[in-house]
Amino acid sequence: MSVPPRIGFIGLGIMGRAMALNLVKAGFQVSVYNRTRRRTIEFADLGCQVSATPRALAKLCDTVITMVSDPEAMDAVMEGPEGVASAFAGGNTLINMCTLSPDYTSALAKKCFLAGVNFLDCPVSGSKGAAETAQLVILAGADKALLEKFSPVLKAMGKEIVHAGPVPAGTSLKLCINLIVAQLTTALAESAALARAQGIDPALIFETLGHNPALNCGYFGLKKDNILKQEYPPAFPLKHMLKDARFMLAEAAKKKLHLPVTAAVESLMTKSYNSGYGDKDLSVVLANLSEPLG
Ligand code: NAP
Repeated sequence: MSVPPRIGFIGLGIMGRAMALNLVKAGFQVSVYNRTRRRTIEFADLGCQVSATPRALAKLCDTVITMVSDPEAMDAVMEGPEGVASAFAGGNTLINMCTLSPDYTSALAKKCFLAGVNFLDCPVSGSKGAAETAQLVILAGADKALLEKFSPVLKAMGKEIVHAGPVPAGTSLKLCINLIVAQLTTALAESAALARAQGIDPALIFETLGHNPALNCGYFGLKKDNILKQEYPPAFPLKHMLKDARFMLAEAAKKKLHLPVTAAVESLMTKSYNSGYGDKDLSVVLANLSEPLG
């Protein structure tokens, strides 16, 4: 990339904060917008420009990256008189990195195309720790040449880019990956519940898995403390995985495909969400069934 982009980053939550900090560390010129202004203070302290609206941010920058929670949040930052789309200028670029549905992503790509704006569909695999250490795996749905052009920006936030195909292939692949994550997390929580019910220390589950190379999955280590201590500080909030599970089921329904285990996990996550655990880590999924939260 001959001229470095002027990047506008929207959404400084668990993931976006760490990703934007890594762009700053990599030397990019970064401006930020976040709905809750307090989260921008550390960026102002680092010399980043803080914009009062998504439109003001998009006016300042040629490349906008979005990392907000869901389609409703995307609508809030993209649409209306203060939205990014109101400042779209031909030749500019939008890179979406949050997890949306394939349909939403395709519609967004079309809107960009009509405005002469480049669009990259780039959700990420990896949680808070991987975001902090720039070890995310970026799942890209994009034109190959465009992806190559922006790979220095993406590589400042992640270690690998998997090119899944054109838009919305990055998002479609992301849903396949999160299907596994949702089920693995529920399996761990359910296994721990069965261990406790039998008077077995759930720590022995993790010890056993660790001794077996075929079952020694790095993800288990990430959720071990939550499951053993029955404390669920959010790395990946349950409400976001519930959104993703609903996207998976909607995609499957369109193709007349049954995903029975995902459907069961979605229903468990819905119960957990309705019990008020949406902002806790996804590993809380069975807490309302097995034990009261401390
Ligand atoms: P988060 O901590 O909940 O942050 C959400 C961000 O979206 C915040 O900046 C929030 O602003 C903003 N937002 C929410 N509603 C908004 C609205 N109506 N208008 C404007 N801004 C709004 O979420 P996260 O964990 O970083 O996840 C972000 C995305 O990445 C999600 O799509 C998630 O599924 C995906 N993802 C998460 C993980 C993970 O492990 N956490 C991993 C991979 C992918 P405020 O600060 O004002 O609330």
